[in-house]
Amino acid sequence: MNKPAMRNALKKLRKVGFDRADRANALMAPQEMLDFLAMTAGVKPVFLLGRGFNDPDWIAGVVQIAKEMQLRIIVGPPWQAAVSDVPQWFRELTHPEDRSVADVVYICKAKGAAEAVANSCDKKSISMEEEAQLLAYPECCVRDHYRRVELRDQAFFMMVERTSGGNHEEMRRIIRDDVGVAAETDQEKAMLEESHGAKPALFTSFHMCDQCRGNPDSPAKRISARFEELAKAIGSDFASEIASSQGGL
Ligand SMILES: [Zn+2]
Repeated sequence: MNKPAMRNALKKLRKVGFDRADRANALMAPQEMLDFLAMTAGVKPVFLLGRGFNDPDWIAGVVQIAKEMQLRIIVGPPWQAAVSDVPQWFRELTHPEDRSVADVVYICKAKGAAEAVANSCDKKSISMEEEAQLLAYPECCVRDHYRRVELRDQAFFMMVERTSGGNHEEMRRIIRDDVGVAAETDQEKAMLEESHGAKPALFTSFHMCDQCRGNPDSPAKRISARFEELAKAIGSDFASEIASSQGGL
């Protein structure tokens, strides 16, 4: 691990401007910086830029740093490793982020990782196993993430369908006009609650599956510990800053 190089990169990342009035982004920034540094240290094959934290100034600033560091930059569609049972037209209306294709930036250090990303972009497909490996996330937690997204999508579909009496035009209007719909049936309530139940793995950007959460020596906890160690090696202030930001999310 080249600590001076990582500290130098951290200094540059800290200088990147973005809209700090967006509280969620401001709280995510320290973890994003750790993820970037983990990629430069070879701990994380791919750093994913522009998904979730999509401030344009931040994206442009990080791309510039990656160019200066001669990292490999690939722009392509966001990964979507799961096939949803929710109708395609409904999914497209409720997941506009999936349509803004060229907006995700994959940054890698190793040639092999960059080739895997380029391949996934060409094929427009990726397996959950490969997504997990490239992001240094546990496969079980990646699978669980997709399961919860699907549950939330299905619950929302049921709620909108019930509210509209099954009329597709009315369903479209409810989504377009952002009409509030609430869970009413026991099934809808249970699905929504389950979809929101994941807890973040500290010092990482993924959420833990239930098995990982309940086991002190789970894949998620081990990755969490590795990233905490990396943050502390870069600087104890940096590690504390990440911990307190994650507490605020
Ligand atoms: Zn897990």
